[in-house]
Amino acid sequence: MSEVRFGLGGMPDWLEPMVRFCQRCGSELTFGAIEGEERDRLSCPRCNSISYVNPRLVVTTLPVTAQGEVVLIRRGIEPAYGKWAQPGGFLEIDETVEAGAVRETLEETGLLVEPIRIVGLYSRVQAAVVVVAFEARIVSGTAAVTRESLETRAFAADAIPWREIAFETSVRALTDWLAGVLSNRKGFGGTVG
Ligand SMILES: [Zn+2]
Repeated sequence: MSEVRFGLGGMPDWLEPMVRFCQRCGSELTFGAIEGEERDRLSCPRCNSISYVNPRLVVTTLPVTAQGEVVLIRRGIEPAYGKWAQPGGFLEIDETVEAGAVRETLEETGLLVEPIRIVGLYSRVQAAVVVVAFEARIVSGTAAVTRESLETRAFAADAIPWREIAFETSVRALTDWLAGVLSNRKGFGGTVG
C-alpha cells in the first residue's frame, strides 16, 4: 500500500470504487459541497442522502506468554504475506472491541486470550483503518498455524524480528508494549537489559 494516493474527500484511491453508489437507493453519487457540512462529501442526487466514508476499526492483541514472550503470526495472506504481525482483524458490527480482539486472536493463533490493557490506538490512513492493540493474557489453547498464517511463534522482547514486521502500526504497537514492559521492570527494581 505504499503507492496509495488520496483522492476525493481524502479517500485512498483503492477505496473510491467501493463507495461509488448510494447505499440507500443505488444511484451514482456525486461529490461536492453540501449545505451544513464542513467539508465536501459524496451525496446522492436522487434521494439526497450523504455518504460518509470513515475508517474501520481493526482489533488486535499482543498475546503474552507466562514467560513474558509475545506471540506473533507470520502472515499467510496479503497484504504483507510472509511478514510478522500481531493477530487481529476487522471488528464485526455485533461485537464489542474486546470480544472482536479475542475472536480474531483465537481464529489466527488457536489461543484463547483475555485482553488486559490497551497498548495503543494507531491510525493507518493509507488503509483507512484504525488499529487498537491490546496486551492480552493467554488463558488456554495451543499456538497453531491457521488458515491465515504460515507460522505462530512467541518472541522474547529482545528477539522481536523488527525488520520483518508487516505493518508500521505493528511496529508502533510492539514498541509501545516493550516500553511498558521495560518501565515495569524498572518499577520492580529489576535490571533492564
Ligand atoms: Zn440515494
